[in-house]
Amino acid sequence: MSEINKNYNQNSDNNNLNVKDNGFEYLPAVTFTTLKDFEERAEKIVRNGFWQDSSPVIVEEYRFIEKKNYRTGEIEKHVAAHYRNISNDTITAIRGFATLLNAFDEDIETWSFEIIDILAKPGEIFGNKHFVRLDNHSVRKINIHIVKIIFENTEKWSLNAEKEKLIPINNIFNDSILINDDLQKFKINLVWNRISPKIKLSNKLVVSDDYWLCHCGALNLISNKNCCQCHAKLIDIKKSITDENIEKIYEQYLHCIDKLKLFLDTERNHIENNRIKNMLTTASSQKKSWPSRKGATS
Ligand SMILES: [Zn+2]
Repeated sequence: MSEINKNYNQNSDNNNLNVKDNGFEYLPAVTFTTLKDFEERAEKIVRNGFWQDSSPVIVEEYRFIEKKNYRTGEIEKHVAAHYRNISNDTITAIRGFATLLNAFDEDIETWSFEIIDILAKPGEIFGNKHFVRLDNHSVRKINIHIVKIIFENTEKWSLNAEKEKLIPINNIFNDSILINDDLQKFKINLVWNRISPKIKLSNKLVVSDDYWLCHCGALNLISNKNCCQCHAKLIDIKKSITDENIEKIYEQYLHCIDKLKLFLDTERNHIENNRIKNMLTTASSQKKSWPSRKGATS
């Protein structure tokens, strides 16, 4: 049994952990809707800097976590890693490896791992509460690579190592920053509200050869017909968010606003007329009743 395997068995507070002898760590899976759902005291959270081209899974981030070993009383450092399913299919297992790097970006160690018994739906985040204990205290960075993915529909995805292309995540999102023009943003929002009313507009739609980025901000595999996060249909987005349609919807909006203004003006006039009428009626009735009231009080 390797050193890592030993550590893993000792420190785990999860009994169903086991290590198979094919060289892979079998890790217990946890599925979350958002990263916020996963509360853990993390010393350092590192957003993974790249996306493996065409991979249905993105490494969202990993955390260095301090954890007390109740047997020895020592504080140990662990790693927790979180992934997001960016495909349109449910994922049941992934296999990968992690390279541990020191402050000089030099490889210290490589781990192989598998996460099984997952049911990660499109857009969902999954991962481990604790990855593996870090014995080497010089670890500063971890590069996680996904090499194999199994889907619920028994389809498989394997990394083609020769063609592996790493796309810096920041580049993808920087390209997508929405126009600064507030009016234009407002116009796009009018159209977006019709496609995905519950989801806030965040990004400009970017379609590259490898992926598309939805207006809700989610990264999607180029093969996704629906956004993995907000479920908007790519075809609807492409059809609706065109310069022509944006202007058309904006014109409709202005027309509605004009109608609303007219309605409000009419209502206001009506209310005002009624108010004056009531005042006059009250005044005239008070005038009539004045002597009798006066008589009643004297
Ligand atoms: Zn979306």
